[in-house]
Amino acid sequence: MRLVLRLVPAIGLLLAASTLVLGGAGRGVTLESYIEHVRFLASDELGGRGNGTEGLHKAGDYVAAQMKEAGLEPGGPEGSWFQPFEIATGLTAGAGNLLTLHAGTQSFALQLGSSYYPLAATPTESPGEASASIVGVPLVFAGHGISAQELGYDDYAGIDVRGKAVVVFTHEPQENDPQSTFNGAQMTQHATLMDKAMTARTKGAVALLIVADPTHEQDSGTYEAFGKDPQAEDYGIPVLRMERARVESLLSAWGLPALAREIDRDLAPRSRELPEVTIDYAEHLVKTRRTVRNVVGVLPGSDSTLAREAVVIGAHYDHLGLGGRHSLSPELAGQIHNGADDNASGTAAVLELAWAAAANRDRFPRTLVFVTFAGEELGLLGSSHYVGHPTIPLEQTVAMINLDMVGRAQGKVVVSGLGTSPSLKADLDAAAEGGSIEVKQFQVGAGVGASDDTSFVLKKIPAIGFFSGFHADYHRPTDDWQKIDAPGAVQVTSIVLELAARIANRTDRPEFVPPPLSHGPASTSGGSSATGGYGPYFGSVPDFGDSADGMRIADVRENGPAWTGGIRGGDVMVKFAGTPITSLVDFTFALRGSKPGDEVEVKVLRDGMPLTVTVTLTTRP
Ligand SMILES: [Zn+2]
Repeated sequence: MRLVLRLVPAIGLLLAASTLVLGGAGRGVTLESYIEHVRFLASDELGGRGNGTEGLHKAGDYVAAQMKEAGLEPGGPEGSWFQPFEIATGLTAGAGNLLTLHAGTQSFALQLGSSYYPLAATPTESPGEASASIVGVPLVFAGHGISAQELGYDDYAGIDVRGKAVVVFTHEPQENDPQSTFNGAQMTQHATLMDKAMTARTKGAVALLIVADPTHEQDSGTYEAFGKDPQAEDYGIPVLRMERARVESLLSAWGLPALAREIDRDLAPRSRELPEVTIDYAEHLVKTRRTVRNVVGVLPGSDSTLAREAVVIGAHYDHLGLGGRHSLSPELAGQIHNGADDNASGTAAVLELAWAAAANRDRFPRTLVFVTFAGEELGLLGSSHYVGHPTIPLEQTVAMINLDMVGRAQGKVVVSGLGTSPSLKADLDAAAEGGSIEVKQFQVGAGVGASDDTSFVLKKIPAIGFFSGFHADYHRPTDDWQKIDAPGAVQVTSIVLELAARIANRTDRPEFVPPPLSHGPASTSGGSSATGGYGPYFGSVPDFGDSADGMRIADVRENGPAWTGGIRGGDVMVKFAGTPITSLVDFTFALRGSKPGDEVEVKVLRDGMPLTVTVTLTTRP
């Protein structure tokens, strides 16, 4: 599961339940084999199943071997169990990376992976060329690097940073003050890396240096972890985290810690040029491209007519490897993130479903396609690839069931996305009847982009997700197999088996109803902060695949602002209100710089041809 959006509580229906219905004769879902799959997939031997690692490869081999033994047929190209595809998995640091601060006649050289590392970079595709090269550029101090018009606070007021580098502190002023206009002791959106990077870039800076806030005793930078598993965001500007201890004497000489305390006292920015201070920065970072594999097995339907239609049952089997930038314990990056719940639990369920269904084939008149996806944690890449290269054509794919994090049920499971096909509720109710687990039903998904069901919904296929809830070990090295509620997961698996049997048996296919798109890209700018929840509404859903230059729009909300302006699914946005758009991040930021009611010029590429339209932004419906 990707950390994109919180689960949206909607019209939830609680169901009571008591005993389990296991699948007919033959091998049903068993506790022993379920936990055996989880133990293997979440073992240290597989190293956290990072994309592009040997561990994920071994996991894929295991899944394929299980599917074969269970009696499935291979569902990949040319009789293979695998659908290979290439993705960018991280960075490779070349030779010649350097960051040097020059102060008068003194020079301070910092080392990549020990005293500095990039939080954001723009890596190249091929080694040999520098991904950034900055020489003798003046350095300007800009407080916390925040430009918050609505709070009347602007670290960039009165300074010109065009063509210069900027040094800022982490976090925000008065961050521990419950009375602060910066949302009390809660951090606002302005304190995020993305906001600081995009603000510096918008102001014309060429690099952003970040140092731990002087009010914090600890510098929580993960300098060494970068060396073990180099990863960085791409915000179109280098953002460099500097070790405070290494530059402490310089900061003090410039008086910056004292300025930070003054800002904290009265919220008056104290940005300034640092006379005779310049930086050199050379960046040699290359995108690491690796081939990863979806694993696909097919159980042909038992009815010669219905067998041409399919139900897809999927789970992602990749995880975070050693943590990297998606870890919620960045200080523990470099440790194995075993991902037992996320998502060995769902992968094991898919394997048990394959065994149980293959042993009871008569119960499945329609074909079942079992898929374990790679690349989910990097952006739903495996499911995006699958819907572009389906084993059974999408027109004949009647529904998708996703299992992502089903290992912590403790008596209840959340089923989301029922709104994509309301008639599935009856099938789910029947499947769960008599079970001893509470099924909480939600009309909407766990959030656009949260897991692989999204890729199917974007292709107008009814898709529902099973999920047993977030917990303290989510995306941390402590997500271990010992914490899995195996009996609970087996109950969830049994409900999915019954649900799949019902969908595979229906005379009519479940109809598709488009879900509300109010969790569009702008929702990444929403959230709980006092300042971020009232943004303008555009009404589009981004394509979560690995996109080219620009932001590919998967779909637009009918009669929403983008739709009314003439934008359609498939368009690639390249400019928004004068701001070049190369990614979802650019768009999110540009949108947040607008207000409801603004008429903005939007340039898109449609089938490669440029098209400019005007869109009137509204408030969120
Ligand atoms: Zn995850």
